[in-house]
Amino acid sequence: MLQVLTCLAFLLPHALAATLPARKPAPNVILITIDTVRADHLGCYGAENVQTPTLDALARDGIVFERAISQVPLTWPSHAAILTGTYPFQNGVQDFTGPPLAPQFRSVAQAFKQHGYVTGAVVSAFVLDRSFGLARGFDSYDDAFSAEIFQKKDLGLVDRKAADSVTHAIEWLKKTPRRPFFFWLHLYDPHSPYDPPEPYGTQYAGRLYDGEIAYADHELGRLITWLKRNQLYDLSLIVFLSDHGESLGDHGEKEHGFFIYNSTVHIPLIVKPPVGSGFRPGRVPGPVETIAVAPTLVRLSGIKDVVEKQFQSPGLLRGDASEEVPAYSETFYPFSFFGWSPLHSLETMRYHYINAPQPELYDVVADPEEKNNLATQQAATVSVLKDKLQERLKNPFAGSQGTDTGLDPDAVQKLRALGYFAYRSAMYRSTFTSTALASGLPDPKERLWEFNATLEASDAFGANDFQKGEAILGQVREKDPQQYIVPFMLGEAALRQKLWDRAASDLQECLRLNPQFDQAMTSLARALYQKGEVTGAKSWVGKAIQLNPENYRAWYELALINSATDKSAAITAFEKSISIQPNFAMSRRDFGMLQFHQQNYSEAAAQLAKAIQLGLKAPTLHNFLGIAYSRTNRLQRAVASYQEALKLDPKLAEAHLNLAYAYQRLNRIPAAKAEYKKACSLEEKYCKFASGQ
Ligand SMILES: [Zn+2]
Repeated sequence: MLQVLTCLAFLLPHALAATLPARKPAPNVILITIDTVRADHLGCYGAENVQTPTLDALARDGIVFERAISQVPLTWPSHAAILTGTYPFQNGVQDFTGPPLAPQFRSVAQAFKQHGYVTGAVVSAFVLDRSFGLARGFDSYDDAFSAEIFQKKDLGLVDRKAADSVTHAIEWLKKTPRRPFFFWLHLYDPHSPYDPPEPYGTQYAGRLYDGEIAYADHELGRLITWLKRNQLYDLSLIVFLSDHGESLGDHGEKEHGFFIYNSTVHIPLIVKPPVGSGFRPGRVPGPVETIAVAPTLVRLSGIKDVVEKQFQSPGLLRGDASEEVPAYSETFYPFSFFGWSPLHSLETMRYHYINAPQPELYDVVADPEEKNNLATQQAATVSVLKDKLQERLKNPFAGSQGTDTGLDPDAVQKLRALGYFAYRSAMYRSTFTSTALASGLPDPKERLWEFNATLEASDAFGANDFQKGEAILGQVREKDPQQYIVPFMLGEAALRQKLWDRAASDLQECLRLNPQFDQAMTSLARALYQKGEVTGAKSWVGKAIQLNPENYRAWYELALINSATDKSAAITAFEKSISIQPNFAMSRRDFGMLQFHQQNYSEAAAQLAKAIQLGLKAPTLHNFLGIAYSRTNRLQRAVASYQEALKLDPKLAEAHLNLAYAYQRLNRIPAAKAEYKKACSLEEKYCKFASGQ
């Protein structure tokens, strides 16, 4: 039975394993990740009805890994693994509830930067925002999303379309001052909701997920064309992969993150080496891991960096592999959100073993859809793979890495001791093996109904159908009264409806069930503050910050609470929030207004301008910015701001009056008169100014 582990060893075809010619100039390196792409939905992986000409062409020029396995089917943790070359259980980024990537984990961007590369990134989803720690090493990290989207959507859904991101990418490449460069482009479109622009919406009606993939591929084509036109394609190392797949209903899961079947962990991975590297195009059939991407980038570029000591894999293009290394996957999402068992798996050429309270084993050759669980029939195979999994998980992170890596040997333990973040329930801290962890926790596959009901409620709230969302959650609560997520979601929904009493009582219930949940504390503080309970609000937000000092929303909430009574405390809190998350437009706006009222017009102008640059649009905001410019004697800018305000609201009398005053100061008397007149016609109280002219 060990046949699976030895005879199908992962070996590159001989032609691929040529030696590198000596002393090549360092190549440009381009990493492209497209979110949520199932391998079997690309032409180069056999899909027949999805048009992906860009990636298919890249596949013809490169090496296609037919069985690439994501280490974790969640966007941020998967990218953390890709960029650091470490497993999620080592770097501590296991789901999107975790803390920012710990500083001792080096990103390949840092390695490239240190070796003379200019580094840039364009990311397309808030979940990869700089506050999570992946911006390290990038000279430029383009993660500014429009503030309008910030206000409308759940944070997890804040994104931008491929057309925008590719345009930003080309702009960055155009102005890159020197070569070589390391550039990471992340596109988010295939992630739900599936709403591709035309013509993809029509062309892929009924299967919009595929439409999103075709759209992203088309936009990526613009980048590849630009590279070719500028003679940057052939000489660049280009690596494309996805962070995870999408279930699309397989195993009862709609999207990704909850399970670790191949629908969500089998991803496309293509390496296009630079011309002259000695590697030839081809296909590699065996399982490989995404943590092998970072070492591949670094080693094919010929740079030597301390980051290599951190890597857990020799890379994708090694020619000396004699033994198949099974690919690892995990998800902590069921655990972190619901308190159910996490899942871990190992995948070989033949089998996929999933360690769950009820273990699963699939013959992926005979049963690629993983429908027939062989765990009971093939207990011996399960036992071997279980041992191998334990070995993998035990992998003492820094212990085997020496002491000069900059990595704290206790990093993982320390993170665990900190409880990662408030979502973590206490039980995680005292357990170190997956077996111990899993013992006694519900099996996610048995709670699928509850998970799906929660998602359905979340969708209903997203569509402002509060009644439906509340009805669904009511049913969940009846069956599982200990589930803290239910009152949390109800509390958040009540906040959005400005039902402060209800929000407060739901969030208090949530904190009774999960006392460490800082996000609920922040929301509770908001509800209490709106109810006039300032002391209670302050106390909860303080607790949230104590638990998670990087919670910029909590700092923002604290600033708002202090704004009326303690201006200097409010300023400190705003500054803290902005230092953690410079692109949070609401902090910029409200900090700017506080500075305005404090008559710090120069600082006010800077903050308000930034809020507007981040996409906030309000006539009054432009009007205040105009006044701040006017008070600091920047009259041309003041005029432009008032005009902007009037574009948004031509009937804003104050803006006409302010504009009149600015014109007057600029000695543009007829223009000033006209504006005074308009102000008077809109508001009688302003007529005295007009008559003075
Ligand atoms: Zn993702």
